Amino acid sequence: MHELTIAENIIKMVELEVGKRKPDQKIRRIVFQAGRMNAIIPESLTFSFDTIKKYHANLAEAELVIQILPITVRCQSCGSESTIDEPEFSCQHCSGTEIEMLSGSEMFVESIEIDEE
Ligand SMILES: [Zn+2]
Repeated sequence: MHELTIAENIIKMVELEVGKRKPDQKIRRIVFQAGRMNAIIPESLTFSFDTIKKYHANLAEAELVIQILPITVRCQSCGSESTIDEPEFSCQHCSGTEIEMLSGSEMFVESIEIDEE
C-alpha cells in the first residue's frame, strides 16, 4: 500500500499548492517526480491516484504523469559522480564503496497544469 500513501500525499501537496490560490480550478495534469530509491511502481501509483481522485471534485479529470529520477552518487575516494540504476552502491569509475548519495530519494510535485477558462 506504499503507492496509495504516496497518491494521498500527492493530492495533499496539490491541494495545498492550488487551493490557496484557485480552489475552484479544475486540475488537468500533475507531473510527479521521484528518485529511484523510493521504489515506486508507476502502474500501481497511477491506479491508486485514479482510485482516490474521484473524491476530489477539482482532481476528477486530472492525469498523473510519473517521472522516475536516477540515483546519483559521489565517490569519496576518486571524487567522481556516477548515476546508478539499482541500489548497487559502488563507484562506476574506481569501484570504491565509500560513496555519498547526492539524489535518488527525493519525491515531489514538479508541476501542476490547471484548466484556465
Ligand atoms: Zn571512485
